[in-house]
Amino acid sequence: MSRTAPAIVILGNGSLATARRIQQLYPDALIYGLAERVDGADRVYSDFGANLRQLYQLDTPIIALCAAGIVIRTLAPLLLEKGAEPPVLAVAEDASAVVPLLGGLSGVNDLARKIAAGLGISPAITTSGELRFGTCLLNPPSGYALGDLELGKRFVSDLLAGESVRIEGDAPWLASAQLAVSAQARLAIHVGSDERAPVADELRIYPRNVVARLNAVVSAQAIREALREAKLAWQSLACIVADDTLMADIQLHELAAEWEVPLRFVQAGDDVCAQPLTWRNPLSGVVLGVASAPLDPQRLGRARGRLSVIGLGPGAAELMVPAVKAALAQANDVLGYETYVRMAGPFRPEQVLHCTDNREEMQRARHAFELAAQGRSVVVVSSGDPGVFAMAAAVLEALHASSDPQWHSVELEILPGVSASLATAAQAGAPLGHDFCVMSLSDNLKPWSIIEKRLDLAGEADLALAFYNPISRSRPWQLGVALQIVARHRTPQTPVVLGRDIGRPGQTLRVTTLGDLTPDQVDMRTMVIIGSSTTCTFPRADGREWVYTPRWYGDKP
Ligand code: SAH
Repeated sequence: MSRTAPAIVILGNGSLATARRIQQLYPDALIYGLAERVDGADRVYSDFGANLRQLYQLDTPIIALCAAGIVIRTLAPLLLEKGAEPPVLAVAEDASAVVPLLGGLSGVNDLARKIAAGLGISPAITTSGELRFGTCLLNPPSGYALGDLELGKRFVSDLLAGESVRIEGDAPWLASAQLAVSAQARLAIHVGSDERAPVADELRIYPRNVVARLNAVVSAQAIREALREAKLAWQSLACIVADDTLMADIQLHELAAEWEVPLRFVQAGDDVCAQPLTWRNPLSGVVLGVASAPLDPQRLGRARGRLSVIGLGPGAAELMVPAVKAALAQANDVLGYETYVRMAGPFRPEQVLHCTDNREEMQRARHAFELAAQGRSVVVVSSGDPGVFAMAAAVLEALHASSDPQWHSVELEILPGVSASLATAAQAGAPLGHDFCVMSLSDNLKPWSIIEKRLDLAGEADLALAFYNPISRSRPWQLGVALQIVARHRTPQTPVVLGRDIGRPGQTLRVTTLGDLTPDQVDMRTMVIIGSSTTCTFPRADGREWVYTPRWYGDKP
């Protein structure tokens, strides 16, 4: 399994130099810096504990430049949960020590050795087996799976007690290990995909060299039986390859999830891979292909493409939902208006950015499907929420208009974000605390007359109003007319909130009244919130004002 790039987490500018040296060893790694303490980090966080726990739960390797104790206490609540255990290391901020803490079976000592070598120090490796053999026998390289962990621990302690070992099968990574190898040894490391009963004096390592080729959906049990019939160990199954007509089949995806193997697709009649395979067909429906060495599923057929339409939130990284961060990390291609694509970065060099003009939404949506239909992971970026005057509806419109089965087979997901009206409202208090109405004042895609009508009716209904796209150079007069319509239904004292560039550098928040509001106070980067008849304000301790709309209406209950 290929791991995601590590996250380098720092608390202050004093660690930045060491962080950059480690980043040179892992060019894809991002430096996470504490907001207001670190200048020039790739990502900013405001809560150390929440950030660290989130990275851990996303299975991201963590290199924390701080005291080991802080990391241990922060992650302690997660350790009893079953789930991801990525490598976690503490590195002294002056680059004098590297301490592997967690993830012994996910390669933490390999990371520690690499970082130590890069920093010119010795890693603080404490795992006896690693020290003695120079490798973790229980963590074979990618493409191989360990048989039984508990038996394996016994096996390693027997070796540590001084026993010699035989190596059966092809284990190229053990060539440089410091093992006492002897043909007469009682203990054996057995590498192979043959099905055998587990025994205590054998460390079983399975090459993942078997592919199940399906042209119809079968049960998990059917695959198990086919493997048994062929005398192949289930642990050697590397991948399921199915006909591409089954790409969107939910049961097939559940099958692959149950087996915890990747699912790839080929056209009926096409070769599964370039490597020669020995085909075994013990049962109809499940054909097994066996290779002489581990198979890389990435090179078998192609993946089901994925298209994620994401919302970045207003701008600040801590207001971006974790699922959006994960989609961005996995993306092959990122499409969107250039400003938003830049906001979604930084990206790795191999990620392809397709920046387009803000107006080319349908073309962008179709381009996204073309890329995803080739099996790529594609992200379409919107600011705020993608479903609010943004790309999600354009993407669905493009799909609705298409009869291409490949487009309809793409795994399409819409991932929400914090919309500008909600981000602005939160900063002002709760102006949208009761019923409210969201409108775009842009008449690019709808007639102005319908906007006037809706404004009038929403005003009459005494809804609080949130205006997106309030004004632009090509629409200079519309906001003034809109405010006149609202004024028919509201007093001049009605509170108004103007949020500009909320969550972005240089954000401003202004509380005013409908009577004092003029269109020149507003531009296209502003969110306008106009209260209802019950919206009120009161002073904050810091001299500014809170704005809120009570939850009740009419007589206070
Ligand atoms: N999908 C976006 C809205 C796109 S429409 C969302 O959910 O937020 C663009 C309009 O949103 C802008 O004209 C402005 O009125 C508002 N807007 C977007 N980001 C904003 C921000 N950070 N601060 C204030 N207003 C913003």
